[in-house]
Amino acid sequence: KTPVLEIKNFHVDYGLGADAVQAVRDVTLTLHRGEVLGLAGESGSGKSTLAYGVTRLLPPPGVISGGSVIYHPPSGDPYDVMTLDDAELRTFRWAETSIVFQGAMNSLNPVHKVSTQMLDVIKAHEPQLSPQARTARAQEMLKLVGISADRMDAYPHQLSGGMRQRVMIGMALVLEPQVVIMDEPTTALDVVMQRQILAQLVELRERLGFSVLFITHDLSLLVEFSDRIAIMYGGRIVEEARSADLYKDSLHPYSEGLLKSFPALRGERRELSGIPGSPPDLRGMPSGCAFHPRCPHAFDRCSDEIPVLGIPSTRNDPHRSVACWLPGRTA
Ligand code: ATP
Ligand code: SF4
Ligand code: MG
Repeated sequence: KTPVLEIKNFHVDYGLGADAVQAVRDVTLTLHRGEVLGLAGESGSGKSTLAYGVTRLLPPPGVISGGSVIYHPPSGDPYDVMTLDDAELRTFRWAETSIVFQGAMNSLNPVHKVSTQMLDVIKAHEPQLSPQARTARAQEMLKLVGISADRMDAYPHQLSGGMRQRVMIGMALVLEPQVVIMDEPTTALDVVMQRQILAQLVELRERLGFSVLFITHDLSLLVEFSDRIAIMYGGRIVEEARSADLYKDSLHPYSEGLLKSFPALRGERRELSGIPGSPPDLRGMPSGCAFHPRCPHAFDRCSDEIPVLGIPSTRNDPHRSVACWLPGRTA
């Protein structure tokens, strides 16, 4: 598998100096060409901050305080997104890596038809296309995301939330980017709708060949639809594995707790036991492993040293990594 986006030792803070909130810490994560990578973790774990940081859309007081994001275009040399100037970034964001934000469906302009808004995106980035070619492209994309021809000239308020979200996905895909980052909201879309949207994205991925980074609270969705899953806690990736491996054999106690928090979509209903305690306060992050105050397995070392994400010593599998001091986990 070849990488398309390599996030390396990435750090994001909100604010500067002693008061800075360390929202993303030393994240190293690779998205491969054509794969769906899921990113899960409780509210406040830094998922959106990572997505904003990687696309350089971090609003102030957010600052990227370290790391690089290497993008591999389909042809030509890889480059670091962190070094792009504003003009290069605008192109990068639509044409190479596009992002659909939490609540994006509310960012459609209410006074323009959805087809017009999509045509504007195409026009801005591919001015050489004839108006007929642009219209054909917009129609094709709206059809792909399930907006029928008779709804194309609708105004945003005439569409349901799910349809508007599909329009946003269509806009994100219309320039055929290599990477789509999708940041699902906590509440704006219900799980049934998230499921439909993710299913559609996976199907489109097969046809169009892009890669997806899908961010959600709902691990059961990711187990079903993504190739790999990364779990975030307190700004760090604590485990990364193929979806099936994570489901059958999770190695981090936090992943274990998350998996137990969601009812299985198919088969037996699991008990909604959840994880006792609450996510860490980033202003006073626990020492050592940030999960130690909530971890049922914590021992002395856990509060002293931050576990490093690495290949688990007892699995001999380069496709897995975990950050935990329990025997047989982090080497
Ligand atoms: P959710 O699942 O609720 O979307 P998330 O994993 O996306 O959560 P982020 O929104 O990335 O989490 O937030 C990570 C941390 O950064 C949180 O503790 C949050 O309080 C903090 N944070 C986010 N935005 C700001 C800001 N503008 N100023 C200060 N702290 C912020
Ligand atoms: Fe629990 Fe310790 Fe592993 Fe952290 S390092 S998850 S506290 S056992
Ligand atoms: Mg978020």
